[in-house]
Amino acid sequence: MQCKLCPAACGADRNFQTGRCGVKGLTVAKYYLHPYEEPPISYKNGSGTVFFGGCALSCVFCQNYEVSRAARGKAVTPKELAQIFKELEEIGAENINLVTPDHVSHLIAEALSLYKPHIPVVYNSSGYAKLSALRAIAPYVDIWLPDLKFCSPAFSARYTGKDDYFEYASEAVKFMAQKPLVWQDGKLLSGCIVRHLILPACTSDSLKILDFLKTALPSGVPLSLMRQYTPMGDTENYPELRRKLTAREYNRVLGYALALGFDPLFTQDKDSAEKDFIPDWDF
Ligand code: SF4
Repeated sequence: MQCKLCPAACGADRNFQTGRCGVKGLTVAKYYLHPYEEPPISYKNGSGTVFFGGCALSCVFCQNYEVSRAARGKAVTPKELAQIFKELEEIGAENINLVTPDHVSHLIAEALSLYKPHIPVVYNSSGYAKLSALRAIAPYVDIWLPDLKFCSPAFSARYTGKDDYFEYASEAVKFMAQKPLVWQDGKLLSGCIVRHLILPACTSDSLKILDFLKTALPSGVPLSLMRQYTPMGDTENYPELRRKLTAREYNRVLGYALALGFDPLFTQDKDSAEKDFIPDWDF
């Protein structure tokens, strides 16, 4: 059957062929307790993070480049993935954090139908997803964690090869943001946090994203402004991406978010932009 799960709609027969996302089935590069997600996600013990191989968006600057290009990762079945969920739960994970799930969401749903953890399930996505796929996995998701990356089709085309990113991601984020927020002592149990990774030389696009979020989402949806960009991946041909964000750039976007009244607002300090924060891959 031809796969049209994600907006790339490449039509690969995933029983036999690798899709444009780089994988046929599920691959996992690492799972562990991640201490550096937003405080309501990592909370006390850390977020039970599962990194999936492959990606339907494939940003040139990907901070997890080897994993998103499917160069790392061990093939697992949905049953084995369900076992990983149990393992993370048993070692005290605050939640199960599915990183880059969009191109394998149908298989993750299969794993979650075998075993639904008793802790929240976090869907940690690039936002480049079809509403039909999100609706299919929504019954298993407690927390949506999309990163709305670009507003401009020119930027998304330059850095991902897709000029329709905002068309899909804006609808995806609007859908995700409808989930009511449930907190318990500062920990998020249910709802949505919208992330935005600020890129060097792209702050005008960041301001457009904030304008969109302010007008299109219900008030009170938490925003996470990410400063962690570190030059990695395949950025040799993109000189503007070969540096970290300046303090001036971050403060420009942060100041605008404060002026628009985003609350809650999660921020990152400049030390977050270090390669040390990229995990060592296990598989
Ligand atoms: S999920 Fe992968 S195989 Fe399916 S349409 Fe998207 S890129 Fe192609």
